[in-house]
Amino acid sequence: MRYHSTRNKSTTVSFREAVLQGLASDGGLFVPEHLPTLASDFMQRLPQLSIEEIGVEVLWPFVESDLSEEELRKMVAETFTFIIPVKRVNHNCYVLELFHGPTQAFKDVGARFMSRCLRRFVEPHKKITVLVATSGDTGGAVAHGFYGVENIDVVILYPNGGVSPYQEQQMAGLGKNITALAVNGTFDDCQALVKQAFTDIQLKNEFGLCSANSINLARLLPQMLYYFLGVQQLLNMNVINPVVSVPSGNLGNITAGVMAKQMGLQIDYFVVACNANDTFFKFLKTGIYQPKPSLKTLSNAMDVGSPSNIERLQHFFENNITTMTQTITACSISDTETLETIATTYQEDNYILDPHGAVALHGLKRNISKQQGLFLETAHPVKFQESIQQALVDFNPQQHIQARPFERKIIENDMDSLKQILDFS
Ligand SMILES: *Cc1c(COP(=O)(O)O)cnc(C)c1O
Repeated sequence: MRYHSTRNKSTTVSFREAVLQGLASDGGLFVPEHLPTLASDFMQRLPQLSIEEIGVEVLWPFVESDLSEEELRKMVAETFTFIIPVKRVNHNCYVLELFHGPTQAFKDVGARFMSRCLRRFVEPHKKITVLVATSGDTGGAVAHGFYGVENIDVVILYPNGGVSPYQEQQMAGLGKNITALAVNGTFDDCQALVKQAFTDIQLKNEFGLCSANSINLARLLPQMLYYFLGVQQLLNMNVINPVVSVPSGNLGNITAGVMAKQMGLQIDYFVVACNANDTFFKFLKTGIYQPKPSLKTLSNAMDVGSPSNIERLQHFFENNITTMTQTITACSISDTETLETIATTYQEDNYILDPHGAVALHGLKRNISKQQGLFLETAHPVKFQESIQQALVDFNPQQHIQARPFERKIIENDMDSLKQILDFS
């Protein structure tokens, strides 16, 4: 399989090149030249397949030029080391719990797979330094995903005082090949520093700088697999062709779902559940894409005003919004509705949602009546205790976060301070 930019079909690159480059040189996102289709008996065999078997069968066409089948099998096994169960929440709504990984968010899947790809693709006797800016969740997932992976150093920039103690713990408390730096500045400053480092060719070559942000193909592709796990478990519960609701921000998760469906996975249609950041919802309604600054909400990992994966999503529908609306419907859910959903789901179904899952369930219920639906629960509720307590006055989390002591490393918001650290890492 070759990959080209969403903005230009004429030049193609291999999977390895696409992963190492991250973003195409014209600013577009890498997409496969075509989507493979599943074997005609795949859906019949699905109930019996292991995650490694699903992973190899689904992902093999995407990586065959750069990985052996055995390497792929091993990467899938090393990525999916935690359970991803489906549970019944009420008579026709089921949840796919994606939060059983090390940082209790679904981003663990993509980060773990990507770290294995980079380890495989780094040239002999060379090192790669992964540099990322984070406002919270991505940093933790990348830190854990790359923790202890040979020949790769990770440097994470986060705003000093701008992340939760839990999130800081997940990034800064690890050590080994992970360096987390609290920058005296905002998240935007962190992102600007990363961008500046990537445009500095000398710096880029000297340290083998590589980005691990969410537009990387190696984070996108493995996300297809949990849709297969979801549909597989539903089949075993005699539920076929579900409507699937995805809590969405940058639209990476839903893009992976759409790819799985287009390959032949039986999903009726998707609900893209957004919070007050309704850029995609408006786009689907009007056909006009109007990015805007993000708004702060309770489901903060979805606070995205200009979703970067929209180019990919449009590509998979041949830039035809009518075709897109045959597979996708969207909604925008308020914080009030989010809290109401957390409260009623606890009272009626005895299930504790986090704010992201609550947005997804609300969106699902709004769209189905008699059909069966599956929604994605992307983070563990314990990560959002304040919101849960706002909705459920008597909520008493049973699970407490284990704190490990760490020393905060603070740097000034300038390139020289960052270079100094890179020199030592
Ligand atoms: C990143 C994230 C999302 C949004 O996923 P996208 O792929 O950006 O649409 C939803 N929920 C949680 C908990 C996240 O961390």
